[in-house]
Order: sequence, then structure tokens, then C-alpha cells
Amino acid sequence: MKGAIFIALNDMIEQQHGIQVWKALVQTVNPPSQGIYTATEDYHEREMADLIIATSRQINVPINDVQRTFGAFLFNELNRKHPVFTQMNNTFFRFLMSINEDAHKEINKLYDEPSLSHIECKQKTHDTLQMLYRSPRKMCYLAEGLIQGAANHYQQDIQIAHKTCMHFGADHCLLDITILEDTQDK
Ligand code: ZN
Repeated sequence: MKGAIFIALNDMIEQQHGIQVWKALVQTVNPPSQGIYTATEDYHEREMADLIIATSRQINVPINDVQRTFGAFLFNELNRKHPVFTQMNNTFFRFLMSINEDAHKEINKLYDEPSLSHIECKQKTHDTLQMLYRSPRKMCYLAEGLIQGAANHYQQDIQIAHKTCMHFGADHCLLDITILEDTQDK
């Protein structure tokens, strides 16, 4: 997982909770990096999972919600630094579908162990799309947050149904994403 993702987590924690909280997290997790990240370098996904667990304990918010909040924050950070992916795709679904194509390798790099981690999108109907997610670290709620961040960017109201989930014994997650009100065509 790229250092850029860790830097985004650091930024979010500092902005929302202060630098002391970030320092406390690094002290608790005691990662090999010591909390110093280079954007383009790879760090183990386990380190991210550990930091998220520590954040959950530190700020007393469920792990799922920490992942969701961070996912949305991360989308904005990535989009600000690499706007090319949303610029190339003029609708929310086209952007998600592009994860299969242009952005696929980039997105998969967000998750370490590329051979084990996998994201794939399939459009089912005009207003529903299904995302398949698989990763040993089971950070599917981070994926939910990223999707929500993208939906906000495209000004779409969405609902995410997450009925098949690795946290409930499945070997993959299925996220059904429905656009509630398609404001884009109006
Ligand atoms: Zn899941």
C-alpha cells in the first residue's frame, strides 16, 4: 500500500483530532516506518489495518466508521492530487467502471498483496452497479468510503448495500451501489 494513503490518514487525524492523537497512534502501533511515510513507497497493508484499529480505540468510534470516514477523505485527497481519473470519466458509474480499466492497477496498488486483493465493478442496470472486493485485510468499509467520496464528487445520492461480506464468512464482498436520484441527466 502506497505511502500516499498513510500520509492521507496522518492528515485526516491531524485535521480532525490534532497532532497529539496522531503521535499517540504511532506510539501505540509502533510500526516499522515509525509513522514517517514517503508517498511513492510501499508499506504493508497490515500497518494500515493496525493504525485504523488504534484510531478506533483512541477516538472511540467503531472500526467500520473510521474506515468509511477515511475512505471518503482519501478519495478527496487522491482526486485533488490525481484529478485525471475523474476528468477522464464524466459520470460516477463510468468512474467506478474505469477502476476495471485505466485505474485498475493504480487502485489495486492501494491495497498491498496485489495477487490477493481485487476490485471489480460491473454495471447491472441504469442506476445500479455491483463492486466485488476481495482482500486478506478485509478493508471493505474503506472501499465503501471511497465510493461515497466519489459519489459526493459527482453529486450523486447513493445507497450501498453490502449483503455479501468477508466479515460474515464470505470469501469476497459484494457492494451494490444504487443511485437514488440521477441528477446528472437533468
Ligand atoms: Zn465486506
